[in-house]
Amino acid sequence: MLLFKNVEVEGQVIDVRVAQTTVAEVGPELSVVPGEDVIDGGGGALLPGLHDHHAHLLAMAAADRSVQLAGATDVATSLRAADRRLPPGAWLRAVGWGGSGGDLDRETLNAVVPHRPVRVQHRSGALWVLNSAALQRIGLDDPTGRLFGSDALLRSRIDVAEPLDLPAVGRRLASYGVTGITDATAFSDMSGPELLAGGGLSQRLVLMGAPDLAVDSGPGGVVWGPAKVMLADHTLPPLNDVIEQFQIARSRHRSVAVHSVTAASLVLALTAWDEVGTRSGDRIEHGAVIPADLIARIADIGLTVVTQPNFVVEREDQYRAEIDADELDSLYRCRTLLDAGIPVAFGTDAPFGDADPWRAVDGAVERALGPAERLDPIRALACFLSSPIQPGGGPRRVRPGERADLCLLHEPLAGALREPSAELVAVTVWNGTAVHND
Ligand SMILES: [Zn+2]
Repeated sequence: MLLFKNVEVEGQVIDVRVAQTTVAEVGPELSVVPGEDVIDGGGGALLPGLHDHHAHLLAMAAADRSVQLAGATDVATSLRAADRRLPPGAWLRAVGWGGSGGDLDRETLNAVVPHRPVRVQHRSGALWVLNSAALQRIGLDDPTGRLFGSDALLRSRIDVAEPLDLPAVGRRLASYGVTGITDATAFSDMSGPELLAGGGLSQRLVLMGAPDLAVDSGPGGVVWGPAKVMLADHTLPPLNDVIEQFQIARSRHRSVAVHSVTAASLVLALTAWDEVGTRSGDRIEHGAVIPADLIARIADIGLTVVTQPNFVVEREDQYRAEIDADELDSLYRCRTLLDAGIPVAFGTDAPFGDADPWRAVDGAVERALGPAERLDPIRALACFLSSPIQPGGGPRRVRPGERADLCLLHEPLAGALREPSAELVAVTVWNGTAVHND
């Protein structure tokens, strides 16, 4: 048992008792039961634990042991430096590469690091580039070395030899007050879900997986969310293929979460929804570009949008340089969607976005791009507090009977939200147990 004394819950300073995995009592001056752990909150806010509605846990663990190329001015120099640090024969894994076209392929990598296997991930997560040694190591012969959508293949051929440190990812997330994650990866087989389910994370897991994944035979301890439907950002699939993906998901009684980062892919997805019909739980992932004239249509058919306001801050310079000026205000909308009655929830898209949800909250409040999309801090935080299985459905609450997934801040909420930061997180409780104590 665990007793929080003097914590601020919905504006009142009271006590909260946790028994096993649930909140048992909420009230003033609860008496201490012998043997109970007591945490004095000193008036700090006790919130439901944050839920990141869109992230990629295996990629986060892999990124932790990778060379980070984001912001690198010279990719070749960064790769050569990493090459010198690694033991002979070890894989060199680099992520966050921001090149757009054909400026990295098998041959250019060979020229930089010829002797060890090298793989470089594009910052979108969709493309890996391998050198010849890497292709040889995994038994593939691709003339360009550019592999799209090959995560499962690479995982099965490489990661077995290099286990991921998922507990470290869990600890980092717990330090942000995160007690739940929806993993938005379109897993095509159960190897990824099994790794996650047995990975020693300290977060509740909701998984997506591809529409044709046989989720009934999946590992225990996870909840299945919507099926992930990927729409390539630049070469869109034919409408019939998208409809087929929706129908496969429906045949398994699943809702769909459709990856959309362009206006064209959004129109395609909406057309597929017109054909197949919507189902409770259907959602748009990212909604990076939502033209104003589509907002009412999205509201009408009852879709939820799970978006990333952190990107408009993290990638502001890039967006200003690459995106048409008239589209800048429709990037990662928040406010106009909520005002239209569309449920909105946040995910960080870590590791492609910063995993710290407090930065995303700050971004949603302070964003310079699309200022009409700014939210007040309470509304922004609420986008991380909704139910794992009902994103955008209103914040969970700290009250008896609720799961004991909790986040205690060092300060009352009003003060904390003046400068949202993970530094504010004092204690994180997951499933009734303290998993972070600052
Ligand atoms: Zn994602």
